[in-house]
Amino acid sequence: MAKKQYAVIGMGRFGTSVASELTEMGFEVLAIDEDEDRIQDVVARVTHAVTADSTDEEALRSLGIRNFDVVVVAIGQDIQASILTTLILKDLGVPTIIVKAQNELHGKVLEKTGADKVVYPERDMGLRVAHNLVSPNILDFIELSDDYSIAEIKAPSAMIGLNLLQLNIRAKYRCNVMAIKTNNKMNISPYAEDVIKEGDILIVVGKNTDLTGLELAYSEE
Ligand code: ATP
Repeated sequence: MAKKQYAVIGMGRFGTSVASELTEMGFEVLAIDEDEDRIQDVVARVTHAVTADSTDEEALRSLGIRNFDVVVVAIGQDIQASILTTLILKDLGVPTIIVKAQNELHGKVLEKTGADKVVYPERDMGLRVAHNLVSPNILDFIELSDDYSIAEIKAPSAMIGLNLLQLNIRAKYRCNVMAIKTNNKMNISPYAEDVIKEGDILIVVGKNTDLTGLELAYSEE
């Protein structure tokens, strides 16, 4: 299967990070920005880099943007440009469009405009930092909906040596341990008898309020 081709529009901090990481991972990446200086800054870190205004349909068309599998729109401040770009990409038939939103309202408009996925990097990172502050064992926190999330929790010492039955997380905190990661090996749908070892990482799903309860219960580390 041919490797996916990516284009990233907007070389701010977020766009640059997405574009250079995809390149590092071995994908072909086209970086686009209307600012020549930004393009100069990233030219060595991506496969191709061009100066273009993404609100100019002809410019995007001549770059062959519809041949890219995924286009990431990483324009933050200029909400109008981000929406217009998304609309043009949709019209041109780009298969998958991912757009960074500034706020919820911007996100809603993007969804209606044709974005396949809207991301909120600042909000998500804020969420992670807050959870990590409350409980340093929380490595990651992914919102599934307004009410439910998945938390990646480094096994606190109070859990080590106990099995899932003894920990009784489902009954005590109404959260489900979906997987246990040991030395990068995933144990999906673990058994009640599976014992938590030092260094294990628990992948737990639950209501936000219940996950917070679990975090707080094990935060005295
Ligand atoms: P970050 O927080 O990721 O650094 P940001 O959310 O502040 O970025 P901006 O700096 O507003 O986002 O925009 C990111 C980049 O998008 C800028 O380099 C800007 O030049 C570029 N950009 C803005 N509008 C367009 C456009 N119409 N066409 C191409 N690039 C654009």
